[in-house]
Parts: sequence; C-alpha cells; structure tokens
Amino acid sequence: MSVLVITDPTAPNQPDHALCTTITAAKQLGPVTLLLAGSEINEMASRCELINGVDSVLFLQDEQLEKTGAEQLVSIILSLKQRYRHILAPATTFGKDLLPRLAAKLGVDMLSDVVQILDSERFVRPLFAGNVYQTIQHQHTPTLLTIRPTAFSPALMGEQPAERHTISKPKKWPRHSNHIALTQPNTDRPDLGSAEIVVAGGAGVNTEQGWQQLGELADKLGAALGATRSAVDAGFAPNTWQIGQTGRIIAPRLYIAVGISGAIQHLAGIKDAGTIVAINKDPKAPICSIADYTLSGMMEQIIPEWIRV
Ligand SMILES: Cc1cc2nc3c(=O)[nH]c(=O)nc-3n(C[C@H](O)[C@H](O)[C@H](O)COP(=O)(O)OP(=O)(O)OC[C@H]3O[C@@H](n4cnc5c(N)ncnc54)[C@H](O)[C@@H]3O)c2cc1C
Repeated sequence: MSVLVITDPTAPNQPDHALCTTITAAKQLGPVTLLLAGSEINEMASRCELINGVDSVLFLQDEQLEKTGAEQLVSIILSLKQRYRHILAPATTFGKDLLPRLAAKLGVDMLSDVVQILDSERFVRPLFAGNVYQTIQHQHTPTLLTIRPTAFSPALMGEQPAERHTISKPKKWPRHSNHIALTQPNTDRPDLGSAEIVVAGGAGVNTEQGWQQLGELADKLGAALGATRSAVDAGFAPNTWQIGQTGRIIAPRLYIAVGISGAIQHLAGIKDAGTIVAINKDPKAPICSIADYTLSGMMEQIIPEWIRV
C-alpha cells in the first residue's frame, strides 16, 4: 500500500521545505502519492509533480476550494477510493490542524512530530520539549503522522514529472466554519523554518532601536528574524517569530542569539541548529554553555559594530 502526503495549498512558494522533508520521510514507507486540492493550483501542481520521490499526484482544482481548510481536505481524503497504509503531513500549523481532525473522523490515533522512522510500524518522536525521545509501535491502518521538518533532509526537484490523476470532489462540502481571510506577513526575509541563518532576540533586546538593529543585521546576513517568548510577550516581535517548544522548531546552519538566556523551552526549538553564537551581557547565562561562540557584552555595543563591518 502506498503513502499519502497532504499538501498545504495555501502555503506560498509550494513546494516548500516542510513538504519536501515530509516527502523524504514518506519515501521510507513506500510509494508516495501527493494530494493537492485547492483553487488555482495548476502551476503549483506542475512544480510539485517534479519533486523527487513523488510517484503520483491526486489533483483537485475547484473554485469552492479557494478557502481550503482542514474541514474540506478531510472530506476529500475520506472520499478517496484508494486506502493508504500511512497518511503524512508536515508538523506545521497546517498539519497540526488537519491530522487530528482526520484521526477523529477515522477513529484512529495519530503520532505527532515524528523525527525518525525505524520501519513501517515504529516511529520516534520527542516528548517534554525534546528532553526525551519516545519510540512507538503503531500497527493500525492507517497510521497518521506529522513529520518534524527539521528532522529530515528535503527531497530535491527532479526533471521527470509524476503522473497526475484528477479526482472528483465530494458530493457535499462541509461548512461548519467560515474562512474569512488569510493574511501572510509581507517580508523579503527567508522563512524562519527553512532559513540558513537566523538572528533571534530575547528580553535583552528591549527597545525599538535594538530590534531595528537586529533587523539590519539579519538583512545584511540574508537571515530570518526570530524571538523568544519574552520578546513576543513584550510586543517587540510577532507570534510567528517565536522559536521554541510552543513556537517554531528551526535548524539553521548559524543561529545568533541576542539577549537570550537559553531557557529549556527556547532551546527545544534550536536543538538541530548548527553553529550557535550567543551575545549576552551575562557569561553565565545557560545559552553560553551550549553556544559554540559567546560574545560577552551589551548588545547595544556589539550589534552596531557587526553591522558596520
Ligand atoms: C509551557 C511553556 C512554554 C514556553 N515556550 C517557550 C517558547 O516556545 N519559546 C521561548 O523562547 N520561551 C518559551 N517559554 C518561556 C521560557 O521559559 C523563558 O521565559 C523565555 O524563553 C525567556 O526568554 P529570554 O531568554 O528572552 O528572557 P530572559 O530569560 O529574561 O533572558 C534575557 C537575557 O538577556 C540578557 N541581556 C539582558 N540585557 C542585555 C543586553 N543589553 N545585551 C546583551 N544581553 C542582555 C540577560 O543576561 C539574559 O540572559 C515557555 C514557558 C513555558 C512555561
């Protein structure tokens, strides 16, 4: 039996990092079928068909899917004639919204945030902010998994498109909730989840000017901007920038932590980061003990010097 991977039709620049890493994970389980349902998704489908490892694409384009949400996608998945042994989605807001609903409709449990696939029945996932890893055996069909994007390398683009099969829409669309708007941040910076370099600020960056300087540094390095929960709570950074247990999980090559103490809930989001640089006035802050390089001092002095270089 093959594996079904659900695509987020509302994500900009699809196929994105999260989808490509989910396909790498899916490939370990069998032949991969991608479900792509939405409105005006022709171009997106042509690009997704070229991802290495995708064997076929189920395609449903319908103007009523302009406001596609979990409700509509679940009704499409339930209406599919073929049965799948595994159903996967990335552990993003999209996957976290979709798979629990599907699991409830199918009457099965689901495994979230999978970081390793041992075989078709055994999966590894983190618990307690990544301090413990649990191996689970799951024998029921279908097995529903969300895949942590930082735990797998992304599938690359190939040249040979996968076969496209147009599927029919369900007889009736569920309309329990009404999607009103989709607002996406307007930024030229890379996406936090897939950025090679991330500059993040914490409670130690506590002025507008300080955040402006972090932005300048990020732009100079081609980096994404991130934040701790304290910085988000203080209103200096939007929720979407939060890194950690209750924020984004990231895996940049270079992570620059400015005015961040290194609480375990924050570190849970940067476990897969490559080189970590801490800029902190307190050399005993916990982040300094896990950082590859520490610059001890005030960010107000260090960051402007970096920008000038
Ligand atoms: C259930 C739960 C979930 C949570 N989830 C998250 C999460 O997802 N992400 C997250 O980040 N937190 C999360 N938290 C909060 C977390 O516990 C910490 O409170 C938070 O990460 C601390 O943020 P901080 O490092 O910015 O602030 P602080 O701990 O206050 O550290 C500020 C640091 O800045 C340094 N500093 C101050 N001034 C300067 C300066 N001028 N120049 C240089 N350094 C300076 C200080 O020395 C200090 O080390 C969660 C907490 C709970 C209970």
